[in-house]
Amino acid sequence: MPDFQAILDQIHKTLTTMPDKGTVASYIPELADVNANHFGMHLRLHDGTEYGVGDYNQLFSIQSVSKVLALSKAMSLVGESIWERMDVEPSGNPFNHLSLLEIENGIPRNPLINSGAIVIADILLSHLKNPKDDFLDFIRDLAGDDTIQFNKSVAHSEKITGFKNYAIANLLKSFGNLKNPVEDVLDFYFHQCSIEMTCSQLTKVFFFLANKGNCLMNKARLTKTQAKRINAIMLTCGFYDEAGEFAFEVGLPGKSGVGGGIIALLPDHFAITTWSPGLNKKGNSQLGMLALEQFTTQTKLSIF
Ligand code: GLU
Repeated sequence: MPDFQAILDQIHKTLTTMPDKGTVASYIPELADVNANHFGMHLRLHDGTEYGVGDYNQLFSIQSVSKVLALSKAMSLVGESIWERMDVEPSGNPFNHLSLLEIENGIPRNPLINSGAIVIADILLSHLKNPKDDFLDFIRDLAGDDTIQFNKSVAHSEKITGFKNYAIANLLKSFGNLKNPVEDVLDFYFHQCSIEMTCSQLTKVFFFLANKGNCLMNKARLTKTQAKRINAIMLTCGFYDEAGEFAFEVGLPGKSGVGGGIIALLPDHFAITTWSPGLNKKGNSQLGMLALEQFTTQTKLSIF
């Protein structure tokens, strides 16, 4: 068994001295003020053993990492019918790309880019009684942690600057791929992206995808097949137009967000979260990508 704490400590030591820590996302004004020097990692093994280094207990905006959780909830509610409204192919384009959606008649390439996630938000709106509260409860239940919250200022900040997301939602609506009003769908979407968690909370939340769909309390939240499908989508579509690079360098299913968080997991073995807010040119955490490459190389633990 590798010495996990020593490996995390060494990665932290190497990466925090790197001169290029990437650039904090500024297109959502509320995120622009985050200090780019934060760096945290948290690892949770299948047997419950936990390891952490750096700022792993500090809250950050999970942003697009939430798309996996929204997809999971939608899958548990409506199952395979999701795929009548979107595809499961990597887009090879940035997360908020627009033109492909028009060429492909309002059918998003996958649920982890903005267009797909906005359709998932529409599905949740149609099937949940109190969509925002019910979604938050779903996440809290996965982690056994009632403290997880939306950050309303981040949601508001995105609402008043989210012109591209409005364009995407309007295009989806024009193709008949949104059933609810654009405003309502985006209000839900901006709130889901604004959820804050620490690295250690995120590894707990994502345990169910490393555990065949069963959450920390060993209750089934997805079927084994559904968990397999979501892991496959994370592997092929979880890192915008850098998904191939992540599979090549790291070799794990995972998902990043523009808040600088990355969750990755090895089914039946572990879930790991990194957080460093500076992003690379493709919008993925600069240090997080490097940290996970070093982690799977040093531990020799990956799906390949
Ligand atoms: N809320 C962000 C947006 O829609 C999420 C982007 C991301 O994390 O990839 O622009």
